Amino acid sequence: MPELIADIAVFAPLRQLFSYRVPAELCDSILLGLGVQIPFGRRRLTGVVVKLRRGSTDKLKALYGLQDEVPLFDQSLLELCCWAADYYRYPVGLALRSALPAGVWSAVPRVAVLKDSLYRPGEETGQPRGSKQREVLEFVRQAKEASLSHLRSEFDAPHAVLERLVSQQYLVKSEIEKLRDPFLSDPISADEPLPLTSEQQSAFESLSKAVLDDSFTSFLLQGVTGSGKTEVYLQTIAEVLKQGRQGLVLVPEIALTPQLVGRFRARFEQAGYRIAVLHSGLSDGERFDAWRQIARDDIDSVIGARSAIFAPLQRPGLIIVDEEHESSYKQGEGFRYHARDLALLRGQKADCPVLLGSATPSLGSAYRCANGQMHKLELTRRAHAGDLPQVELIDLSGQPPEQFISEQLEQEIEATLAEGKQVLLLLNRRGFSPFLLCADCGQTFRCPNCEITLTYHQHARELRCHYCDYRITPPEQCPRCEGLQLDPEGFGTERLAQEMASLFPAARIARMDRDTTSRKGAHQKLVRQMMAREVDILVGTQMIAKGHDFPGVALVGVLASDAVLNLPDFRAAERAFSLLTQVAGRAGRTGGGRVLIQTYSPDHYALQFAAAQDYASFYAQEIVFRQELGYPPAGYLANLVFSGIGDQPVLKAAEGLVEYLLAAGSSAEILGPSPCPLARLRGKSRVQVLLKAENRPLLKALLDYAERWKVPAGVGLTVDVDPLDMF
Ligand code: ADP
Ligand code: ZN
Repeated sequence: MPELIADIAVFAPLRQLFSYRVPAELCDSILLGLGVQIPFGRRRLTGVVVKLRRGSTDKLKALYGLQDEVPLFDQSLLELCCWAADYYRYPVGLALRSALPAGVWSAVPRVAVLKDSLYRPGEETGQPRGSKQREVLEFVRQAKEASLSHLRSEFDAPHAVLERLVSQQYLVKSEIEKLRDPFLSDPISADEPLPLTSEQQSAFESLSKAVLDDSFTSFLLQGVTGSGKTEVYLQTIAEVLKQGRQGLVLVPEIALTPQLVGRFRARFEQAGYRIAVLHSGLSDGERFDAWRQIARDDIDSVIGARSAIFAPLQRPGLIIVDEEHESSYKQGEGFRYHARDLALLRGQKADCPVLLGSATPSLGSAYRCANGQMHKLELTRRAHAGDLPQVELIDLSGQPPEQFISEQLEQEIEATLAEGKQVLLLLNRRGFSPFLLCADCGQTFRCPNCEITLTYHQHARELRCHYCDYRITPPEQCPRCEGLQLDPEGFGTERLAQEMASLFPAARIARMDRDTTSRKGAHQKLVRQMMAREVDILVGTQMIAKGHDFPGVALVGVLASDAVLNLPDFRAAERAFSLLTQVAGRAGRTGGGRVLIQTYSPDHYALQFAAAQDYASFYAQEIVFRQELGYPPAGYLANLVFSGIGDQPVLKAAEGLVEYLLAAGSSAEILGPSPCPLARLRGKSRVQVLLKAENRPLLKALLDYAERWKVPAGVGLTVDVDPLDMF
C-alpha cells in the first residue's frame, strides 16, 4: 500500500507546499490543519498540514513530529487561508501563520485560585478566628472563586492567612487556566431589543430567513446614518445564537469603542452568551486567550477588526461586515487581504449568510447589487427622532486664503455653543501645520527618507514624517539662508484646536487624531467625555467621522475638504463622498443637525451628492466613469511595486518586467513603469507597474506569468492584488 504523504505549508517566505513522508507511528494521529515540525534544508521549521494523500515516498524526508494534538485550522478555514494566499500572491505558510495569534505554542498560563470548600463546621466554631480570615472567606464565598494574587493585593492578606483557610478546609486551592479578559473591569448592564421600525423589520425578516436556510447568501444593508443598522445586526445575531450557531462581526478598528462592543455585550452576555472581542489593542496574551476560547468552542459570538475574519469559529451562522466601505479592511502590507472579500468567501465555504452594512457602500458592493449578485436591504430613514441633517457647501474661492475658517462657520459654531450643543470639526490632517516655511528664502523641510514635507507638531516641538516617522527638532534658523523667521504654514488638527481655543475661550475643546489617541484607553476616554458633554468642540481627523453616536452634536464643520477630493487616486471622489456623508451623519442624531462643508470646488459632484446625501445619484455618475476607464468595480487591478536603493536600478527592473510582460501578448493593460505617488519611502526608491484587466482570469493569468520572471538582485517586488491605496 502506498504510504501517507503530508503536504505542508511551511512558515517561510515560499509560495509552494512541500511534501513529507508521514512516519508510521504518526499515521493515526496526523490530521489536516495540524502544526508539524519538519526538516527543511539543514533547519528545523514549523508548518501546517494542508493536504494528506497516499503515494510513493521514495524521495521524501519524514516529518519530525506533531506540534499539537488538535488542528489549528478546520477544513473550511484552511481552505480560506490557502485560497487567500494564492489570490493575494502571498506565501501560504505565512498566510496561515498570520491567521494565528502570536505565541500560539507558548504554554497556557495557569493561576492558583481559592474556592469555597462547602465545609461548614458546627455553629459555635463556624467562623475562622481572625477578622482578616473572615473577610477573605466571606469574599470568596460570594465571588465563588478568587485568585491568590487578587486576594493578596485586595485584602493585603499575608500568605499565612490564606494558607490557614485552606488547611482548616474552609477553602480549597486549585490551579486553573488563566484567561486574560480585557473587559473584566467594565460592568455591563442588560439591554433589551428595541421594537423595530418597519424598514428594520423587513430587513430583519429577510436576514432571519437566510439564517434558517443554512446556506450562503449575501446581503447589503444600506442604511442612512442613524437608521439603526446595529439594532438589525443585534436581533439577527440573536436568531443565529438561538439556532446554536455563532456570529462573527467585523468592524473597522476605530469603531471598537466601548459604545459598540458595549451594546453587543449588554445584549448577549446577560443572556448567558459568551462574546470574544479581538482588536489590535489587545496584548499578545489577551489575544491568545481569546483565540483559545474560540478554538475550543467556548464562544458564541466574535466581534473584531480585520484579522477576526480568521477567528477559528466552527459553526458560523452569520458573518457581518459593518461599515463595509472602510479601507481599513484591506491590510496594507505583507498579506494584503481584504477582510470584506474574505468574509464573502468564508460565508460560501461555511454555508452561512454574509451581511455587509454601510450608509455609503463601496462602489463594488453597490455594483454587485446592481448585477443581482447580492441582495439589497434598505433603511432610508433614521430610526428615531431626527431627520437627516441639512448640509450646506461654503464656497471658499472668494475668501482670503489665510482665512481658514469662514465667517459663516464661525458664526454657526458660536450659535451652537450658545444653545449648549456640541460641535464636531473635521480636518483630515494631523499635526500643527503641514509644513514650516522660511519667510526669507522659502525653504521647507523634507524627510530625507521619503522626500515629502515634514509636518510641524508644535506641542512636541518636532518636525515629523507621517510616513516613516522620521523626527527632528525644528532649527532656530533657516539652514539655507540663516533667516530667523520660520513660519508654520497651513492648518493641522493641533493648530485648529488652538485656533478654536482663541476664538471661543469659554469652550472646552478636545482633539481626536492619531497623536492624541495612541495611548491605550485615550480614544475611549475622549468618547466618554463627548458623551458626558464635557467637551464643547471636538476637532479631529477622519476618526471623528466613524462609528460614534454622539447625541449632543448639532453642528458638523468640514475644513479643507478639497484635500480629500484631490488625492491622486481614481477613488478620490468615492472617498470624499463617503467621508463627508459619514461625518455629516454625526450631526443632529436627536434632530435638527447642521453641516457646513468648506470647499474650493462646490460644484464637484461628490460634494454635491454628499450634501444631498444622495448615494444613488453619486453611484450612477461614478460608475459610468469607472466603466469608461475600466477601473474597479468595472475592471480588475494589480499593482506591482518595485523598491530598492537608487532610482536607476529600480526603474530598470520595472522596465525589465514590463518588457517581459508585453511578450505575453495578454489583452490586459500594462500601465507604467511610473514613479509611485510616494516615489521615495523609508530611503527606498519606488516605481510601480499597474495591471488592469477586464476580468479576473485575465489578470490572474498575467500575474501567473509575471511570477516566472526573475526579480533582479537588490530590488524588492511586492504584488498588491485589488489595491486600495496606490501610494
Ligand atoms: P447606524 O448604525 O445605522 O448609524 P445605530 O444602530 O447606531 O445606527 O442607531 C442609531 C440610534 O437609533 C441609536 O441610538 C439606536 O439606539 C437608535 N435606534 C435604533 N433602532 C431603533 C428603534 N427601532 N427604535 C428606537 N430607536 C432605535
Ligand atoms: Zn519619511
